[in-house]
Amino acid sequence: MDRAALEIAGERRRSPLAPAEVLMGATRALFWVESATDAKLIAVNLVSALGGSVVPSSRMDGDALPVDLSFGQGEPVVPCAPTNSAARMLLERCMPSFIVDAHRALELRTRMDRLVEAASVDTLTGLPNRRAMGRALGRLKADDVVIMLDLDHFKRVNDTLGHAGGDQVLSGLGRALQATVRGTDLAGRFGGEEFLIVLSGTSDPDAFLRRLRVIWSAVRPSPITFSAGIALAGEKVNQAVGAADQAMYRAKESGRDQWAWALPDEYSSQGPILRPSSVAPEQDGAFVAFSQIHVPEGGAGQVETAFRERLGAVEKWPGFRSLEVWSDGADPTGYAMVSWWDSAADFSSYMRSDDHRRSHQRIPTGDLRPRAREFRRYRVVAR
Ligand code: GH3
Ligand code: MG
Ligand code: MG
Repeated sequence: MDRAALEIAGERRRSPLAPAEVLMGATRALFWVESATDAKLIAVNLVSALGGSVVPSSRMDGDALPVDLSFGQGEPVVPCAPTNSAARMLLERCMPSFIVDAHRALELRTRMDRLVEAASVDTLTGLPNRRAMGRALGRLKADDVVIMLDLDHFKRVNDTLGHAGGDQVLSGLGRALQATVRGTDLAGRFGGEEFLIVLSGTSDPDAFLRRLRVIWSAVRPSPITFSAGIALAGEKVNQAVGAADQAMYRAKESGRDQWAWALPDEYSSQGPILRPSSVAPEQDGAFVAFSQIHVPEGGAGQVETAFRERLGAVEKWPGFRSLEVWSDGADPTGYAMVSWWDSAADFSSYMRSDDHRRSHQRIPTGDLRPRAREFRRYRVVAR
């Protein structure tokens, strides 16, 4: 844009920038447009910086330029300035090329959006892919739940029905997952025959998996089951996926076609806090579980009461034998609870129960990291 044009109308007083700079600034701003609304805003600002004004095209008169600045966003609008004015001259020079650039910028934006979407979707199942799930995990909140789900003996499906048959099973599970999740939840393909589900806020993962099992049984192309691990994000959002994964493998080991909640030690990437071997030799029953619990303000009496209450929820389960509580001297409110069941089968049935779910939901995932040898031990009840 030439300096002479600027001088004609004394535009220098209105804008400290030369029209060429104004146009260049607006064109640069197009680089960042995300929507037609953005483009419209830049166009309107450009018109006003060049000394013109914007009117709805329905009120267009001889002062207006017949170029739509709305980019399809709301009512069509056009720039205008009195005929023969410097502003009018500038608008005539600048606006047509700006509009061409703005349309190009919006077209590029649309293509970029499509690419981003394509890069986030798993083509076989239509579910968000691992990359998209990674982003969802980055937004995980403490009361969200993560479920890791894996098809059982999927290799056999490929072996018997061929790879195409296996693909059909995977896309079928994708549809079943989409039919089961609520709008606020997210189910994605994590890789191979593994799926990751994020249930947001207060939700009932057991009910979710029961629903999914019913739907899956009805639609699956062959009688293939799934196993899953459930982890509450809690305060350890970064470890929830690992914990759900470990719980899923435990469910596999317990016979597949079932799910398990992550145990507290499965949230730790630094290894378990208590290993079965560190306590099992003192007991005859099969060691089965330990968990963490906080008793506000501690005190032996309160501890006993809290664990007797806990015991009430647990001891009705077949095979349950004893419950022991270990307290960490360093944390007067934190205790580890150790329980035994007579057999792994009894333990599995407890782990699948609602009692187990409820008790785990009351367990804070705070960082009680008991060191067994430094523990005081409370024997609460033994049968
Ligand atoms: P488990 O119950 O222990 O999970 O046994 P599994 O056979 O399901 O597990 P494994 O991890 O041994 O096998 C997974 C198989 O999934 C191996 C791989 O060939 C197959 N797979 C992974 N991705 C795809 C895919 O996109 N399509 C098909 N058809 N098969 C796939
Ligand atoms: Mg599998
Ligand atoms: Mg697998």
